[in-house]
Amino acid sequence: MTRETHQRKRSRQRDKVLETVRSTESHPGADWVFHEVRKEIPNISLATVYRNLNLLVQSGEISEVLCDGQLRFDANKKEHFHFICRSCKRIYDIEETRVAQPDFRLPRGYVVENVRMDFYGLCPDCRSDK
Ligand SMILES: [Zn+2]
Ligand SMILES: [Zn+2]
Repeated sequence: MTRETHQRKRSRQRDKVLETVRSTESHPGADWVFHEVRKEIPNISLATVYRNLNLLVQSGEISEVLCDGQLRFDANKKEHFHFICRSCKRIYDIEETRVAQPDFRLPRGYVVENVRMDFYGLCPDCRSDK
């Protein structure tokens, strides 16, 4: 295989991984992405999927979300919070940024560059009182 086709193969794999993460709002884990990508690229390995997910995180195309100790991936680039349902484990995007201003001060000497906040509880589907 020539170098050029090797590179083309690599970028095709990366594009497919990105497209797959973008195809859902479910914040999939690597296993799900692997399963989906394999439908089109049957010989891709889980290690390759992981490598591409990491590359995409590094380049800012997607971000990582930690849910219940599991690493999941998110292609929503709008500023948003996550609501994680403790029952069904779904991760919901909350595009409500009015809650974004934490009303406290850090001790002197700390410079805040980024705030990360997640909400946990029961989603509308899992609430028992509906
Ligand atoms: Zn739920
Ligand atoms: Zn999200």
